[in-house]
Amino acid sequence: MFKYVRVQILYPCRARCAWCSTHHKNPLFRHLYDTGVAETVHRFYIQVIRDLQPEQVFVSGGEPLLYPQIAGFLNAIADATQQINLFTSYQYSQEACDRMPFGQMPLEKIVLTHTCICFLQDRWPELTAGFPFERYVENIRTVARLPVRKRFKFILNHADLDKEIALFQERLALDHTFELGLKVINEQGGVLNRQAIEQTRDLAHARARALEQLVDGAGWGRASFMPGSLETMAPLLVDGDHGRCRYRRKPLELRFALYKADTTDQVLKYRYCPYFPSDSGYRFHIGRDDTYKLQKNFRRGDFRDHCSRCRFLTHYGPL
Ligand code: SF4
Repeated sequence: MFKYVRVQILYPCRARCAWCSTHHKNPLFRHLYDTGVAETVHRFYIQVIRDLQPEQVFVSGGEPLLYPQIAGFLNAIADATQQINLFTSYQYSQEACDRMPFGQMPLEKIVLTHTCICFLQDRWPELTAGFPFERYVENIRTVARLPVRKRFKFILNHADLDKEIALFQERLALDHTFELGLKVINEQGGVLNRQAIEQTRDLAHARARALEQLVDGAGWGRASFMPGSLETMAPLLVDGDHGRCRYRRKPLELRFALYKADTTDQVLKYRYCPYFPSDSGYRFHIGRDDTYKLQKNFRRGDFRDHCSRCRFLTHYGPL
């Protein structure tokens, strides 16, 4: 039924990105992994993906590439989907990077996906709590040598977007395995970025209007460009009419995140788009609820009542 399913691997991330609130859950993720609770949740994801057979799966975290059982997880879902978008921060040690079991993964199905917090050396330390920029670049280079697709997204409302893209091209030899794209807003971390997004709204709008020029001017080289959320959200950008939203109209996406879990009870939160207010969403009790509920609530449709608080429209607004 759903074209995309998004799941969250419960394993700690090493990054400390300024805009992200998920790394605050690292101690919890570590505890859930050590007690075996994470495995219960991950098995549930596998079951849902096999049942729903989505066109694409999005695997976030935590840090999925540090999760010791990641190859087994990916192999368990590979036959049930056409594409697995695997999020990574590229912020880990060389040893951790060298240990990653890429040889055991279904690389032909995988797109390693990354949003650049800011690809500028002078801003990088402050935004990553001091993670070494050169290590980050070296990790990308290591992965770039693998026969796997790589996707890098840049944030449309960054003042120095052109400089970020130029530096990225200078530091990395882009080939046909790279895809570059733009993210309309960085919606991670609830409302952490609200002020920055609203202050730069005019710039983002101007760039979205002149997208063709922007892409031509960037000279992506052999990398291809993919419009991503700009394309998905285009109907709403016309006049902000919720009724046009693709996420509301058809079952485009089912996305899970951890709500709460311990050894006796594991509860996930699920939503049908990336821009729902952070205090909304349905709950799913693993082992108690019927997976039919995941589809029934889309059809029932009361989630649409929250669209008046759509984060995309609130922070970014129509063009
Ligand atoms: S919250 Fe926004 S993006 Fe999500 S379904 Fe509603 S209008 Fe669409």
